[in-house]
Amino acid sequence: DRVPLKRALISVYDKTGLEELASGLHQAGVQIVSTGSTAQRISAAGVPVTEVSEVTGFQECLDGRVKTLHPLVHAGILADRRREDHVAQLEQMHVEPFDLVVVNLYPFVDTVRSGAGQDAVVEQIDIGGPSMVRAAAKNHPSVAVVVDPARYGDVVSAAQSGGFDLMARRRLAALAFAHTAAYDNAVASWTAAQFEGEDEEELASQQTGQELPDGGTHQVSLFPPYAGVTLQRAETLRYGENPHQKAALYVEDGAAPGIAQAELLHGKPMSYNNYADADAALRAAFDFDQPAVAVVKHANPCGVAVAEENAHGVEENAHGVEDPIAEAHRKAHACDPVSAFGGVIAANREVTAGMARAVKDIFTEVVVAPKFSAEAIEILSAKKNLRLLQLPEGYARDTVEYKQVSGGMLLQARDAIDAAGDDPAAWTLAAGAAADDQTLADLAFAWRAVRAAKSNAVLLASDGATVGVGMGQVNRLDSCRLAVERANTLGAAQTGAQEIISAGGAENVTASGAPERARGAVAASDAFFPFADGLQILIDAGVKAVVQPGGSIRDEEVIAAAEAAGVTMYFTGARHFFH
Ligand code: 5GP
Repeated sequence: DRVPLKRALISVYDKTGLEELASGLHQAGVQIVSTGSTAQRISAAGVPVTEVSEVTGFQECLDGRVKTLHPLVHAGILADRRREDHVAQLEQMHVEPFDLVVVNLYPFVDTVRSGAGQDAVVEQIDIGGPSMVRAAAKNHPSVAVVVDPARYGDVVSAAQSGGFDLMARRRLAALAFAHTAAYDNAVASWTAAQFEGEDEEELASQQTGQELPDGGTHQVSLFPPYAGVTLQRAETLRYGENPHQKAALYVEDGAAPGIAQAELLHGKPMSYNNYADADAALRAAFDFDQPAVAVVKHANPCGVAVAEENAHGVEENAHGVEDPIAEAHRKAHACDPVSAFGGVIAANREVTAGMARAVKDIFTEVVVAPKFSAEAIEILSAKKNLRLLQLPEGYARDTVEYKQVSGGMLLQARDAIDAAGDDPAAWTLAAGAAADDQTLADLAFAWRAVRAAKSNAVLLASDGATVGVGMGQVNRLDSCRLAVERANTLGAAQTGAQEIISAGGAENVTASGAPERARGAVAASDAFFPFADGLQILIDAGVKAVVQPGGSIRDEEVIAAAEAAGVTMYFTGARHFFH
C-alpha cells in the first residue's frame, strides 16, 4: 500500500531544512512544484523546481493571498487514485497528481505574541496553506502530508524507498488535521477577543495586568493558544491516579518546554502521579536562584532547601568538593526523612555524583533535574526502578495555568515570585526589631518555599532549609500546629536525635530527647493570620521571626501578640495561595 513519491508540492513559511529536503527529494527522482519564495530558495540551492503559477497559468495575486487556491492545484491533491473515474478526470483536465504535500503555515500565534496591530495579525491568517494541508490529509489514501520540518528526514527516506505506507500516511494526516485545528483555534480565539475589545472593560477582563516593582504593568494575555488549547496525545500511561482509571500524557501546542517534553534517562515509564508530583517538585525547586532541591510527596513538599552557589562550578562538584546541590539535597531530606520515603526529588542544577550517592540509599520514585552528570547516572542507574528525568533545554513554566471545573475550565496568569511584595526590600516591619542579615535571608527563603505547600500553608525554616511544613489544612491554626509538631518530631525519627543535636547544638532538645527545631527558626505563612491564635502557637514553640502578607481586619491583635513576645514580624502585602 505504498504510494511512490513522484511529484511534490512544497509551500513553507518556515524554511528550516528546506534545501536538504528539496535536494534529497530531487535525488530520489521527485519532481518539485512550489510557491513564490519557497521556489526561489529551492532554485537558489541548485534544485530544479516548477513554479505553481506555471501549473495554474495564473500569477500569484493580492500580495500572496491567492497563490495555490486553484482547481489545477487542488484537483491534483484531492483526486482519489484508487478510483478510475478520478484518474480519468485528471487525464481529461491534463492535471498531474501530487503524491506529497509539504506545507507549514504563516506564524499567526507568534505575530499575536509580538504585539502586532490588527491588520498585521489578520494578514498572518493563512488561507491557502490550511486548504492544501486539509485536502492532502483528507486524501491520505493517495497523498502524504507533512507539516513539521522535524519530519523531513523521514520524507527523504520514504522517497528513496518507494513512499510511505498507508499507516504512515494516516499518522501524518492525523498530525496535519491537529495542526490546522490548533491554528484555527488560535485564529478564532484572537478574533473573539478583538470583538469583545469593542467594550474596553471586557478587553481588560481578558487580560491580567500584573504590577511590576517599578510601578508599571505588563499584560499577560490569556488568548492563543490557551483560549483554544490544543493538545496532542504523547504517551499512554499505565493508569491514572488510581489503577482503575485510564490515562495519557498530552502535550500542548505552543507551550514552553516543560516536564511533558522531558527525557526519561533511566527507570520504569513515568506514571500519572509521577508526572504530577515531579511537576510540583519543579515548581518549588525553580523558585530559587541558588542551587535548590525539593522533595515532594502527593504534590506537597516534605523538604525544600538551598545551598550557596559554588564558585568552582560543577566540574569540581563532581569530585565531591564543595557540592552545593548535594548539600541542598541533604538539608531538604533532613527536614522530614520519614515522608521522603518514596518521594519525588527535583533539583534546579545538574545532579552530581555527591547528590546521587545520597539519593541511592533513599527509596525514591523520581529524580528530575536539568541535567545529570555521567557519574550520577551511573550511580543512580544501579536502582532499577528509580526514574531519572532530564528536563528539555530551555525548561520554563508556562505563563498561564488552567484547571478543569465541571463544564469548563479556569485560566489564570501563573503565580510566580514576582509580585511587588515578594521582594524583602519592600517588606514592612510590623512588629519587633528589624531582622539581622541571616534571619532576613531565612525569612526570604521561607517566603519562597511556603508557596510550594498547599494552602493553608505555614512553614518553618532555618539555615536555608525547611524544618517543619504545615500544609493543606482547612484552618491556619492546624497548619501552625502541624508545622511545629513536624519540626519537633520528624527530624529525629530517622536521622537520629543525637546526630541532629551534635550538628545543631544540644540546647534545643525536647523532653523526649527529639531536637526542638522550631525554637530559633523563622516562619512564613502563605496568607494572613485571621486571628492571633495561630501565631501564638509559633511564638510558644520559640519561632523568632515571621513573614506573612498582613491585611487581616485583626492585624492589630496579631501585631500585639508578636510585640508581646518580642518576635520580629514582616508584612509582604502579597499572598501566595496554592490549591
Ligand atoms: P512562499 O514563501 O512560498 O511565498 O509562501 C509560503 C506560504 O504561503 C506557506 O506558509 C503557505 O501556507 C502559504 N500559502 C500557499 N498558498 C497560499 C494561498 O493561496 N493563500 C495564502 N493566503 N497563503 C498561501
